[in-house]
Amino acid sequence: MRTLFLGAREFAPFVDLLIGSTRVIGPVAKRQKFVFAELESSGDLRLDYDVTILPPKKVFFPPVQPLVCFDAASVRDCIDPVPTVLLGVHPYDVKGIDMTDLLFRERHADWNYLGQREATTIVASGVQSVAPRAFWASIGTEIAPVGHDAFLTAIDGGYVFEPRTPKGVALARHGAFREATPEEIAAAERANAEAAERCSRALPYTSAEIAERVRAAFRDEAMWDALALDCFSCGSCNTVCPTCYCFDVRDTWNLDQTSGTRSRYWDACLTREFASVTMAGGEKENFREHHQSRFRHRFMRKAAYLNEKLGGPACTGCGRCAAACTADIADPVRVITTIMEATA
Ligand code: SF4
Ligand code: SF4
Repeated sequence: MRTLFLGAREFAPFVDLLIGSTRVIGPVAKRQKFVFAELESSGDLRLDYDVTILPPKKVFFPPVQPLVCFDAASVRDCIDPVPTVLLGVHPYDVKGIDMTDLLFRERHADWNYLGQREATTIVASGVQSVAPRAFWASIGTEIAPVGHDAFLTAIDGGYVFEPRTPKGVALARHGAFREATPEEIAAAERANAEAAERCSRALPYTSAEIAERVRAAFRDEAMWDALALDCFSCGSCNTVCPTCYCFDVRDTWNLDQTSGTRSRYWDACLTREFASVTMAGGEKENFREHHQSRFRHRFMRKAAYLNEKLGGPACTGCGRCAAACTADIADPVRVITTIMEATA
């Protein structure tokens, strides 16, 4: 597919035309931070963001998602996908979406997720500002992001736009694009390589080395106790993570007591109740009662268990968990480096 270029002055009209024709979600400022939100005008879009509070998976897998509505006579599907352009997704978040795509597609395809996913066109964008806790340039480098329909890179004088799918090609019809010159393409490659160099926090090990050593450290209770010592089981590290996909399903009843809604809610394996079950006879059992075992479970999932399905770690290096953890203990660079050094 031909690589295109859009002049800086043509960019706002392009985004505004898109907004006029479909729902467009992109990064916008929220006080000192950034969030993915529906754009009202091109002026809201902040492609210079470093990282958003929540990952863009929330577009397909919202924190609370009504699944079915019911009353005494019927049960109705409440899933209603909206055609959407998701604009300005950093490559590490495209990788997160690739992982949730795979996990929600395997075995029984989850159309509660896939319905909105298929109605969405994703435009990735090069990282302009690197978040302080990010380490995406050094983790899972064997896996390339693939789930986007186009890739946008800001360079001097405009934007290089690389359509990757027919949906990406179709988007270009909304703007005054022309074919990019070899110099513009080279400038985009340089801009993205320089951003990766600025992402200097690193895990200098291969995914296979990390997986093997993290798994082997499972029984080192003293180390996990020390790593998890200050954890107060808030679940924030799960909530902000682009690759966490656990959910709970609950029914809420209306006042008439005959109708209601079945919804799913994000769940978090670091919280106390996550692995708690009520046995036949009413007895309760919690399979990961201690915060140390929940903390360890998270790292086993991220660094070892899911590798077999995903081909690499279930961590994109976004750094959100490190920034969200009040106790400042959730950072995968800290935890994995400790394990690698202790087992060297
Ligand atoms: S590691 Fe940090 S963010 Fe995660 S549950 Fe524990 S205290 Fe909360
Ligand atoms: S584990 Fe932390 S750094 Fe890795 S993807 Fe999840 S939130 Fe991002």
